[in-house]
Amino acid sequence: MHNIEELIKSLQVRGRIETEQRAAEWTWLATGGLPLFTFYPESMEDLSQFLKNRPSDLCYRTFGAASNVLVRDGDKDGKCFDGAFIRLMKGFRALSVDGTKIIAQAGLPGSFIVNKALEAELGGLSFMSTIPGNLGGLIAMNAGAHGSEMKDIIEWVEVLDPQGNLQRLSCADCGFSYRHSSIPKNHIIVRACINTKKSTREEITSEIHHFLAQRKATQPTGGKMAGCFFKNPPEYTGYKAWQLIRGANIPANTPASKTVCVSPIHANFIMNQANASAFDLEYFALQIQADIFFNKDIWLEIEIERIGYGG
Ligand SMILES: Cc1cc2nc3c(=O)[nH]c(=O)nc-3n(C[C@H](O)[C@H](O)[C@H](O)COP(=O)(O)OP(=O)(O)OC[C@H]3O[C@@H](n4cnc5c(N)ncnc54)[C@H](O)[C@@H]3O)c2cc1C
Repeated sequence: MHNIEELIKSLQVRGRIETEQRAAEWTWLATGGLPLFTFYPESMEDLSQFLKNRPSDLCYRTFGAASNVLVRDGDKDGKCFDGAFIRLMKGFRALSVDGTKIIAQAGLPGSFIVNKALEAELGGLSFMSTIPGNLGGLIAMNAGAHGSEMKDIIEWVEVLDPQGNLQRLSCADCGFSYRHSSIPKNHIIVRACINTKKSTREEITSEIHHFLAQRKATQPTGGKMAGCFFKNPPEYTGYKAWQLIRGANIPANTPASKTVCVSPIHANFIMNQANASAFDLEYFALQIQADIFFNKDIWLEIEIERIGYGG
């Protein structure tokens, strides 16, 4: 058990530390209790200092835009994680262009990087414009859309290891597979080199507009939600997750159904429609899983990452 004030002092960091900030204030799903503290490092050096100075039993989790996580509600005091949440924000937003390569820090939203590339007439990144998330989260998840994914554009990735040392990983070292990278959870992505290709403003703009229109027609674009809630079941079942959910008895008249709903645009987006707790969301999801299992003999696995305890 850490004395929180002494612990924070011993870290000797320059960035902001919040001890009373619930994750619900910044997760896309608007759920989540309190970690020991939330740390907003001022710079890469500050984050490295944090890792070097922290007691070895102080665990931590890193977040980008928090668009693919469900943080749990916590215990009766709202405590949901016995370690630090780290958010890479202002101190991680530098970007430079070197020929057709873009070197960007992990706290930059993907859409911002796409816009910078557009200004320099560099193409190949338009798929990122429709995916929420910051570069660190996009790489950690090997995010993808419209037939492209992060692994197609990454040259190298720099991470801080748990001892605060900087390591450079090649694209192959990142172990990218479908919506996954093998970068360990305790390694923090801080910067990456992105490969682009020469293009024209007109070509890039028309591609972005095309992807945004496609997205608007097929997925919800507003509201409190995260990415696809369930994994697609194995191919032999012949179903996609959204098809099974659309055919399921969606919970109605239960406490969870008052605060949670399935998006009418895309059934694999489960939405917090009225101050739902993480418990409400998980319970609602469980009812859908049980119904599909009972009727179709298929167990849908949850895709979004659940972090913390309680609820
Ligand atoms: C409306 C909507 C649409 C979406 N559409 C798509 C889509 O089309 N394709 C797709 O792939 N995804 C999609 N997603 C999911 C989400 O956008 C992606 O998973 C994205 O990569 C998450 O980035 P993030 O910054 O929000 O990461 P977070 O949600 O903050 O974190 C996700 C994971 O990455 C880790 N992580 C975050 N930052 C770092 C870092 N700096 N270093 C190490 N690990 C880190 C976290 O620990 C966590 O494990 C969608 C989500 C929403 C809400």
